[in-house]
Amino acid sequence: MPAPAPGTRRRMDEVPLRQEWIQRAACADEDPDLFFPVGSTGPAERDQEEAKRVCERCPVARQCLTYALRSGQTSGVWGGKDEGELAKLRRKRRGAADREPVGQEIRRAG
Ligand code: SF4
Repeated sequence: MPAPAPGTRRRMDEVPLRQEWIQRAACADEDPDLFFPVGSTGPAERDQEEAKRVCERCPVARQCLTYALRSGQTSGVWGGKDEGELAKLRRKRRGAADREPVGQEIRRAG
């Protein structure tokens, strides 16, 4: 089962409480189906675009996107990015990590 996106209080309950940013999420009272549309055409596409508009006015979009990437979310809209865009960002990050000289990532993490 895919991990939930923070599109509703129900889903937000599943984001670890230490993620303080979730308290300021613009999607707190939005319809969860907007953030987790089934499919990618027709009504699902419209829902996804509406979710992204909510994200545009969200004060914690950056934190949301970072959380999604770090926790490996593969479905839903997070930080204004849809599934395809999240996948592209993950590939880009992986590529950057692969090109990083050995030891640099360890130094950054430390
Ligand atoms: S960026 Fe979008 S999905 Fe993330 S918390 Fe804000 S409104 Fe919700």
